[in-house]
Amino acid sequence: MKRLLIDGKLVGTDNTFDSINPANGEVVGAAVDATVEHAEAAIAAARKAFDTTDWATDHELRFRCLDQLHKALDEHREELRDLTVAEVGVPRALTYGPALDAPIDVLRYYTDLIRDYAWTKDLGEVEARGAKHHRWVEKEPVGVVAAITAYNYPNQLALAKLAPALAAGCTVILKGAPDTPLTTLFLGELIAEHTDIPPGVVNVLASPAPEVGEVLTAHRDVDMITFTGSTPVGRRIMEVASKTVKKVFLELGGKSAMIVLDDADFDTAAMMAAFTICSHAGQGCAITSRLLVPREHHDEIVGKVAAMLGNVPWGDPTDPKNLMGPLISEKQRDKVDAIVQRAVEGGATLVTGGKRVDPGFFYEPTLLTDVASGDEIAQDEVFGPVLAVIPYEDEDDAVRIANDSIFGLSGAIVSRDNDRAIAVGRRIRTGTLSLNGGNYFAPDSPFGGYKQSGIGREMGVVGLEEFLEGKTMAVVVG
Ligand code: NAD
Repeated sequence: MKRLLIDGKLVGTDNTFDSINPANGEVVGAAVDATVEHAEAAIAAARKAFDTTDWATDHELRFRCLDQLHKALDEHREELRDLTVAEVGVPRALTYGPALDAPIDVLRYYTDLIRDYAWTKDLGEVEARGAKHHRWVEKEPVGVVAAITAYNYPNQLALAKLAPALAAGCTVILKGAPDTPLTTLFLGELIAEHTDIPPGVVNVLASPAPEVGEVLTAHRDVDMITFTGSTPVGRRIMEVASKTVKKVFLELGGKSAMIVLDDADFDTAAMMAAFTICSHAGQGCAITSRLLVPREHHDEIVGKVAAMLGNVPWGDPTDPKNLMGPLISEKQRDKVDAIVQRAVEGGATLVTGGKRVDPGFFYEPTLLTDVASGDEIAQDEVFGPVLAVIPYEDEDDAVRIANDSIFGLSGAIVSRDNDRAIAVGRRIRTGTLSLNGGNYFAPDSPFGGYKQSGIGREMGVVGLEEFLEGKTMAVVVG
């Protein structure tokens, strides 16, 4: 049984819920089910730690504690790798990147940034009322932060919040997703058992009950919410948080477009499109789930993508050769299947896929054509291995379709000409873009969305600054 972390103590109760391995439906383990009272105790502990300890002001204490956490994660890396694959169904291959190793690097990056960041910015002097005034800005932590995360990359989502929030001097209540509680509670155990992080500075909760998340967003002692999850829940969080005027940071959904320009190598483009949509079974916010192709090359490209989808290795996530594992739950599989069926009933052509595969919650790589930009399948986030192909007439039309979305999280452009790809990329309203396979994902690269994909940026220096206030001060010097 994995326990909660509240006020420096690991808390166990008889009230637990099971984490299910999505690859076979078996129970991975039990997590303590936090109540609203646990959430309130965690908030009180975080408030007290922020207001009464040196955490907010002592940079060296923070560096030492985060360095300890980094070491502990490094030492328990293989244990967490196995747990992550079992609980999330993410292919083992991806744990060497965004599912585990990359987030541990994110923690390292923010630990080092504590020493490198300019915490004070000098503004020089001004003359006013016949005197000289010296001004400067001191960067201070926002305060008590509630971090609420999604299920798909739990280590990345937790550490991309925890690391900069703690580096900034905030105290945190972290609540993991209901489908993946164990990986998040594992972090709490490491903090309690292997670091000197003072009691209350980090509290870790797990619960399937939305009320536990709502307490965090509503409570007056929480200064900021950092949330990663769906756009509908993000809207609700903003609404609830508005009553106490909290700072709200949101990483939300996406429906990103890959634009294949008419000069592209279509084999390369097809390979990129197929492998991207299958990565972690399409359960990635930044995945390109719309494929925009020149109308005159539509049939040729569709043929190549369909063939490539047949080559993507998928199945057992513990097998390191697989790129795609299962969907997280039967509920998620029902959602994915329902949207595919509605698309077909609405006139889309199912080129390949569209079937459930048991045991576990697998879903075949799926390709749909005869899709118009306004269709549900082209507008709504599916979060499954489902790629919708939309033809375009010319470059302007491709840009128009790519931007025809409430989302703006990511995207990709494929061309033989980097300059042309960059020029088209500048016209896309989105927070990240991969041009000809360029990799933007790294601890120092800001990540986040335009439009209803979110507010703010995670990672990079700006990811630290999201958790900082600036206090402008002035003194008369002559
Ligand atoms: P979700 O929105 O259903 O849940 C996310 C979290 O919110 C969970 O911890 C859940 O318990 C909690 N929650 C639910 N209702 C709440 C409420 N009323 N108040 C407070 N908390 C509440 O998302 P999910 O299904 O876990 O994850 C998939 C979604 O996450 C997709 O939309 C995906 O695009 C998005 N996502 C975005 C990013 C990004 O960086 N932009 C990264 C990963 C996932």
